[in-house]
Amino acid sequence: MPERILIDVILFIFGACVGSFLNVCIHRIPANRSVLRPRSRCPACDHFIPFYDNIPLVSYFLLKGRCRSCAASIPVRYPLVELLTGLLALSISIRYGFSFQGGVFFIFVSALLTVAFIDIDHQIIPDVITLPGILLGLGAGAFLPEMKIVDSLLGILSGGGVLLAVAVLYHALAKREGMGGGDIKLLAMIGAMIGWEGVLFTLFTASLIGALSGVLMMLRSRKGLKTALPFGPFLSLGAMAYVHLGPEMIHWYFHLGRSSG
Ligand SMILES: [Zn+2]
Repeated sequence: MPERILIDVILFIFGACVGSFLNVCIHRIPANRSVLRPRSRCPACDHFIPFYDNIPLVSYFLLKGRCRSCAASIPVRYPLVELLTGLLALSISIRYGFSFQGGVFFIFVSALLTVAFIDIDHQIIPDVITLPGILLGLGAGAFLPEMKIVDSLLGILSGGGVLLAVAVLYHALAKREGMGGGDIKLLAMIGAMIGWEGVLFTLFTASLIGALSGVLMMLRSRKGLKTALPFGPFLSLGAMAYVHLGPEMIHWYFHLGRSSG
């Protein structure tokens, strides 16, 4: 089936181009700069980057990871984000086909990827991503036949509510801030998109992977974990996993519970 392979190649290229735009978002949103204008410049020498040096994935390898005018090295992060977004375009189309729901979920995972890298770099989760994300989830719940508005509303309440309760409790006990408001709005956005079951799955998965990563980092650094790990990347990872295989895993889990009990 050569048509399917051609479609997949086109989808991957489309995803990589979106990834190139996500790189701009990751770089500029925390600095409150426009993501549309001006054209990209090399951060080292300030030269405008011509279109032929800005081709997703390809340019990085043609330039051997260096700026054409000043030879400053280009972080491997750039092609990595393009590659990941290309793969996400493919995997979402395999899971959801060419549907509005697939389109919404591709926007969703792209937003999650952007949030994850911004949180790693700056320990913030920008409202300009999560608040429109909550509205998109509500809109999808209201208008798409595959989704329900009740799921979106319950998802927002459970997602925002659980982390808000944790934050209030932690503040009361530890007398300092542990959970940021950005995490709360991020989980509300996740709930708007994948409902309260998705929120539970995301929280569970994120806490598990987060705790494992924390232990690994403590073992490697041999001193206490004083710098708190940002939670956003783990929440993003958990929600991405749910979008791809969450419902099956939940059904499998309940089926297992029934057959053993
Ligand atoms: Zn340069």
